Amino acid sequence: MSTEAAQGLAEVHAQVGINAGPCPRNCAFCSFASCHGIFKTATVLGLEEIIERCDQFQQAGANAIYLMTTANFSFVEFLEIGREVRAALGPEAVLLANTGDFGREGAEALRQAGFQGIYHAVRLREGKVTLIKPETRLRTIRAAQEAGLSIATCVEPVGGEHSVEELTEMTLLTRDMAPIFSGAARRIPIPGTILAREGIVTEAEMALILAVVRLGIGYDVPLNCTHEPNGMGVLAGASILWAEEGSNPRDVQKQTNRGYSVEGCQTILREAHWKVAEGPSPAVLGKR
Ligand code: SF4
Repeated sequence: MSTEAAQGLAEVHAQVGINAGPCPRNCAFCSFASCHGIFKTATVLGLEEIIERCDQFQQAGANAIYLMTTANFSFVEFLEIGREVRAALGPEAVLLANTGDFGREGAEALRQAGFQGIYHAVRLREGKVTLIKPETRLRTIRAAQEAGLSIATCVEPVGGEHSVEELTEMTLLTRDMAPIFSGAARRIPIPGTILAREGIVTEAEMALILAVVRLGIGYDVPLNCTHEPNGMGVLAGASILWAEEGSNPRDVQKQTNRGYSVEGCQTILREAHWKVAEGPSPAVLGKR
C-alpha cells in the first residue's frame, strides 16, 4: 500500500535547524523549552552557513529542504533567510518551513518568500504537555493551505504513555489535513526531563504504529514518514526519511549529533528495496 501511494518512489527530505535557544512555549518533550534550562542563550547560524548546508543537502540528492526554527524566532528574520536560501538554491529547489504558528498574512508571506510548504503538527497531548492550544496549530495549518502551501505532518512525538485511542485520533486528524505525508515519530528522551522517565518506544513498536498510520491515512497521502531514520520503519512502510543538520529539539547540542546524512537515509531506503526519487520532491510538486 505504501509503495502504491508513493507511486514507487521514496524520498529524503533534509532539514537545517537555523537557531537554538530557550523557547517560552515550554513543550515538555523539547530541549529548547525554557523550563528545562538546557539552552540558556539564543544563537543563530550565519546566513552563509545556512545556505552552504542547504546547498550541500541539495547536491547530495535531498528531494526537499526545510528550514527549522524555535517557535519564538523572529518571523521577519525567518522570511529574510528564506528569501536568501531560495535565491541561492534556485527555482527548482523545494523549500519548506518548520517554524512557529502564524495566520493568513504569515502564510502568504512565506509563499512570497519562496516556500512551497510547511511542516506543522498538532503534537500528541498538545495543550497539556505544551503551552500551545491544538486550535492554534490547526489554524496555522488552515492558513497555510489557504495560501496554497503544502502540509507535511506526523503523529508525534510518540511515547509509551500514549493510548491506541490517542494515536488513532491523531492519525485521523493528520489524514484530514490532506498532507503530502503523515507517519509516526517517536519521542527522544531529553535527559533530566519529566517525560524522559517514560522511556523510549522501540523501533519495532514504531514500525507497527507507522504501518497502522499508513493504513489509516489511505492512498491519497503520498508518503509515510518515520523519524529518526531506521530500517525497521522503512520495511514496515515508511517512505520518507529526514536528514538533519544544525539544531533540533531532540538534542542538547546546538549542532545536532543525531542527524543522518542524505546518503545515509538513501541507503536505509534502498536496503529495504525502495527506489528513491531523484530531484525535486514529486510529492510536494504534486506530480504523483
Ligand atoms: S517544540 Fe517548538 S514550540 Fe515547543 S518548546 Fe520546542 S521550539 Fe518551542
